[in-house]
Amino acid sequence: MYVKTAAAAAVAAGALYYYLKRSRTLTEEFEGDARGRVPVVTPGKISHMINEWVAVTKQPFISFEYFPPRTPEGVDKLHKTIAEMGKQKPLFVDFTWGAGGATSELTLDLSTKSQAQHGVIVNMHLTCTNQEREKCDFGLAGAKEGGIKNIVALRGDPPKGQEKWEATEGGFNCALDLVKYIRAGYGDFFSIQVAGYPEGHPDRITPVKDLGRPMTASEKARVVDVDGVEHVCSDEEMTKELAYLKEKIDAGGDVIITQLFYDFDVFVTFVEQCRKIGIHAPILPGIMPLNAHGGFMRMTGFCKTRIPPGMKAKVEELKGDDKKAAFIEYGLDYITELCKKLVDSGLVPGLHFYSLNQSERTFQLLKKLGYFRAC
Ligand code: FAD
Repeated sequence: MYVKTAAAAAVAAGALYYYLKRSRTLTEEFEGDARGRVPVVTPGKISHMINEWVAVTKQPFISFEYFPPRTPEGVDKLHKTIAEMGKQKPLFVDFTWGAGGATSELTLDLSTKSQAQHGVIVNMHLTCTNQEREKCDFGLAGAKEGGIKNIVALRGDPPKGQEKWEATEGGFNCALDLVKYIRAGYGDFFSIQVAGYPEGHPDRITPVKDLGRPMTASEKARVVDVDGVEHVCSDEEMTKELAYLKEKIDAGGDVIITQLFYDFDVFVTFVEQCRKIGIHAPILPGIMPLNAHGGFMRMTGFCKTRIPPGMKAKVEELKGDDKKAAFIEYGLDYITELCKKLVDSGLVPGLHFYSLNQSERTFQLLKKLGYFRAC
């Protein structure tokens, strides 16, 4: 009897707490936004902001990613774009770290200025390529000083012209080392985001013929065409990849942001595999809009991205200057459908758009999704 009463009291207290917490979270509604009332979260660490968001709504938040431009004119233009896109109230915006640390000062400058001037919460990328620890410290200390509480900890790609990634003397071997370093030196100050790869990391995607056996059903489902040759991250390599991703989370990673992908089923399998091995961090899908045939082929080739057969046929059909507009239209429809499936799946709390420093394509997608806010 006592146990029953105590349990009932605990349930009631829990329900009251939940109600009070919910009722205390401010919400806001914007004209034109089909998501209705969405939470106004406390700006700060992305891990906390996501928790606050999902406690109130099943609707997705949005976030945008930018890269440091090469010229001062490009930087001015980007600031204008961020100010304009900021009106869509992204949960956060990312700034990439130039390959080889080439744009480290600019990334830091853009990050701190954008957070201070445009009222956006910044998620600053940091890589290990060509960098001693001191350069990472420069980024981390600068971020902290500038009030930035979010870091994407990455290994980085090899510098241009170099095939294989190599650690720098006095630097780190992989993103895991960087995650550990940040947690050891900065405690819980930062929300740490890490990269995830639904098809497997390109380093682990190799020619199918090298398997020496027929592909399994799961391998067939994520097989990738690289310059006309079938490649795949084998089941064995995928197991290692996921175990390593878990290490990044266990070491202090809070959120996973994925590489771009175009196959919904591949993403679903990836999330299921993550959950199965005990990765419970939020997984944000990386959404790359389609802009032009050439760029799309280059990017998917570089990242070894799977293009589902139906999409591949259509993209081939829409090759050529005279079909540019039709290619863009197809891309908008395809990505809109992909986003809708992701949201309907309930697997993602938000949609992370690789906006490539331009508002146009992302705005078109937001309009098609019904998430564009008239302001
Ligand atoms: P890691 O997590 O270190 O993994 C790389 C590969 O090595 C994986 O296959 C992993 O399984 C394997 N590996 C490494 N260490 C171990 C280990 N100890 N045990 C087992 N396996 C291991 N690049 C930039 O230059 N600047 C950016 O700002 C940037 N932003 C990005 C943002 C996102 C969301 C993503 C997905 C990628 C981004 N990249 C960026 C690209 C990224 O740097 C490359 O994909 C790079 O090749 C790998 O980085 P990583 O952090 O995933 O590496």
